Amino acid sequence: MSVQKVFISGKSEAVIVCGKCGQSKTIEADAAAIRGKTAQIRCKTCGHSFQVVFEARAKYRKDTALEGHYFKKRPDGDEFGQMAVYDLSLGGLRFEPIGKASFELGDVLTVDFQLDDAKKSIVRTGVIVRSIGERDVGVEFAILDEHARKLLGFYLMP
Ligand SMILES: [Zn+2]
Repeated sequence: MSVQKVFISGKSEAVIVCGKCGQSKTIEADAAAIRGKTAQIRCKTCGHSFQVVFEARAKYRKDTALEGHYFKKRPDGDEFGQMAVYDLSLGGLRFEPIGKASFELGDVLTVDFQLDDAKKSIVRTGVIVRSIGERDVGVEFAILDEHARKLLGFYLMP
């Protein structure tokens, strides 16, 4: 069974997203106390059981100009659009939606984007909206699987 990485935001909050149904849950905990710890989680919505490990957010960021897509599940119809990623770190990214879009803080989205590395690697992952600017949206990675993590880690090496 794979272990899902969960990032701790600030001092006391971590968002766990069910890899099976996408349901998210915010837990409050002392960052210093849970960092590096694992926990067994059972999704209340779909019953999926999985292991998570809590991690502090990496600091290193990179300015980028990458193309991608966002996808948002809505009760009244799913929303899908293009975006430009221009700030990327192991913790999250900032993007500018291309065309009309509306987001709210705490929205859970799926995004994919293509790195401009030699392999033109595609990263696809779940994110949570953390800040909304006039033109851009800041999101945190909710799930980063081992593959995506390796790709980004390599891509973001100074
Ligand atoms: Zn679930």
